[in-house]
Amino acid sequence: MTEQIKLAPCPFCEGPPCIDGFDFITGKPVADDRPQSQDSDEYYSAHVWCHDCGARGPGIDSCTLGTFEHRFGLTVFEVMQIAAERWNHRHANARPIYDSGDARGLNLFPRCKQAEEAAA
Ligand SMILES: [Zn+2]
Repeated sequence: MTEQIKLAPCPFCEGPPCIDGFDFITGKPVADDRPQSQDSDEYYSAHVWCHDCGARGPGIDSCTLGTFEHRFGLTVFEVMQIAAERWNHRHANARPIYDSGDARGLNLFPRCKQAEEAAA
């Protein structure tokens, strides 16, 4: 039996997460038990989303996974598993970039012209 992944609650509202898989080319929903074709030429995408507020987790797709992580021939179920893992994986790796931008006024909306010109 496949190991189950407990999805973390939504980081914005603590709401219940849902996960969907799609044909990467057409964008149409795909059942999670769809087998990969014998030619391994089907690409899928998946993401977790919050049923309450609609926030979305990282968009995962087998085309990008093949190109950048050398993971090929993934089934839609496997792509959904990766989307679930990345929804659950919370980190602050980019916080220094946020802090750097914050020091220059780049995290304000709307930005003032002076901050945008300095960032360019
Ligand atoms: Zn939410």
